[in-house]
Amino acid sequence: MSGQLVVVGASLAGLRAVEAARKAGFDGAITLIGAETHLPYDRPPLSKRYLLGEVDADVYRTEDALREELGVELRLGERAIALRAEDRVVVTDRDEYRYDSLIIATGAAPRTIPGVPDLAGIVTLRSIGDADRLRELVVPGARVVILGAGFIGSEIASSAKKLGAHATVLDGAPVPLVRAVGEEIGGALASLHPANGTRLILGTVIEEFVGDDAIREVRLSNGEVLPADVVVIGIGAAPATGWLRDSGIDLDARDGGVVCDEHMQTSLPGVFAAGDVAHWPNRALGLTMRLENWTNAADQAAVAGRNAVTPDSLAPYATVPYFWSDWYEQRIQFVGTATADSVEIVAGSVDDTRFVALFVTDDRVVGAATLNEPRKIMKLRRVIADGAGREAALEIVNGAARARTPEGATA
Ligand SMILES: Cc1cc2nc3c(=O)[nH]c(=O)nc-3n(C[C@H](O)[C@H](O)[C@H](O)COP(=O)(O)OP(=O)(O)OC[C@H]3O[C@@H](n4cnc5c(N)ncnc54)[C@H](O)[C@@H]3O)c2cc1C
Repeated sequence: MSGQLVVVGASLAGLRAVEAARKAGFDGAITLIGAETHLPYDRPPLSKRYLLGEVDADVYRTEDALREELGVELRLGERAIALRAEDRVVVTDRDEYRYDSLIIATGAAPRTIPGVPDLAGIVTLRSIGDADRLRELVVPGARVVILGAGFIGSEIASSAKKLGAHATVLDGAPVPLVRAVGEEIGGALASLHPANGTRLILGTVIEEFVGDDAIREVRLSNGEVLPADVVVIGIGAAPATGWLRDSGIDLDARDGGVVCDEHMQTSLPGVFAAGDVAHWPNRALGLTMRLENWTNAADQAAVAGRNAVTPDSLAPYATVPYFWSDWYEQRIQFVGTATADSVEIVAGSVDDTRFVALFVTDDRVVGAATLNEPRKIMKLRRVIADGAGREAALEIVNGAARARTPEGATA
């Protein structure tokens, strides 16, 4: 297999796609284009151990390994600005690249609020550069206000506390994380903030950012004024697809993500997508979705990379989604979907700092959330993949049986 493979986005999905293409026997040229100047690195530590200064940036492969083992032509610090699909050309801010196959792996970028003033101390977190900036600001005694009680906002609050700062988390919703884990579990997890000394203010947003050169305080919709040395806007991320706007590719009407089929193929010939940027019909759950988690980006890109170089034998991608989050020394894990008829904590409680919750629809387990139960979550993932019922899940929860899974079942 030869030709020219171009991958735009030099992070987890981009790298995994390259690795999969080579593993499938592709011996043509591969160009990896990334807007950041860094080699592909692991993003989850940025809000956790990297922010705490406990670890250095975790680069997946050295430059030599990328060039020599994977035969990649690296174009870092270079941003794709357009796709001329009729010519099969990616246009960057420096050059143009012709492709036979293209993989879009540009991920997502933090959402912002229109009208936020340009004041020092107001930040978002997505990249190493963002984390370095935040690390300088979050010093002992600093007053850190985090807008958005999602996973990343909550992890930043937890790290800020650990660094000796004062953390306040705000969220416009009455219960946070509802889309990710449902109302009951969202409420249970939110209670970890006050239990660990972080102030949590729900149903409230920032109405005004006040400061001269740097942020000084925020005025809230509940009338309160909070002094602030740092404000983190953590209200989610949107697919980074601005560069595709005039390409003719199908983009999702709501969030601009790239619309793919079950093979991670886009509406344009020879063009695939993977990772945080991609919507696709997930047969494992019968739902069309876009996920923003590490495991999906890695696994989905492996399929997209293989398919991009083996167009005559396309493989579908289906998965029971899985993500984790770490706050206040607690490990939160979730598998499946929170879209369910009922949710029940079947063991433990948030006060015990250990629980298992099942999400059930028509007696089929479709999701599970755990706090500090790492061994059970992967078995529950297999229960969901098998389409098994509540009883099978309860056997695992109660330790009575191992998941009865046929060898090789997709999880
Ligand atoms: C702070 C933080 C903590 C996280 N923690 C967890 C966690 O605990 N558990 C979990 O499961 N997931 C976590 N995630 C999510 C996980 O990191 C992402 O799902 C994963 O990084 C997605 O990989 P990706 O390659 O699709 O996108 P990204 O990692 O976003 O990479 C996209 C790359 O494309 C580049 N790019 C964008 N536009 C262009 C362009 N026009 N031209 C060239 N390059 C471009 C970007 O600069 C970036 O380098 C976390 C994410 C963040 C930001």
